Amino acid sequence: MDVLAHGLWGSLFFGRKNWSTAVQAFLIGMAPDLLAFGPFILLNGGFRDMHFAPYVYQSYNVTHSLVVWSVLAAALWYFRGSFPWVFGAWALHILCDIPLHEISFFPTPYLWPLPTPFVNGFPWGQPAVMIPNYSALLMTYLIMGFRRYRKRANQRSENKTIGTASSIE
Ligand SMILES: [Zn+2]
Repeated sequence: MDVLAHGLWGSLFFGRKNWSTAVQAFLIGMAPDLLAFGPFILLNGGFRDMHFAPYVYQSYNVTHSLVVWSVLAAALWYFRGSFPWVFGAWALHILCDIPLHEISFFPTPYLWPLPTPFVNGFPWGQPAVMIPNYSALLMTYLIMGFRRYRKRANQRSENKTIGTASSIE
């Protein structure tokens, strides 16, 4: 899946507490790709013909492994004393990538460093993935925004009612 969609889904699932967690989950949702490809793209001013240095593949293994994620999540859980839910956006990224990458182009090494049976998925760059994916994102964000707006409107009218009641007393 493309990096922006990863961030948006991550934020939807793991960043609903407040704005701060929404931004954190958005960034954490994109992190596996940003960390794997970002340094190479920055150092080389982009990439040509999908040619990457070997270290890109190595860092892709590390950032796209549920084994590595589990170890980090367990460490965070231990040291913070509470489960790092926002970090779930990272695992969601890996889970979404498994069915959306062909074996020929960065198959998801979800069990790295253990032997991983790669999934020959559907390439995410196809309109058949992008259009439904962004439609689903747009619809979900609209529904969430509408629910929030309604909740706030209800709270405002409740406050007004309480204000009127207390002024009558
Ligand atoms: Zn990815």
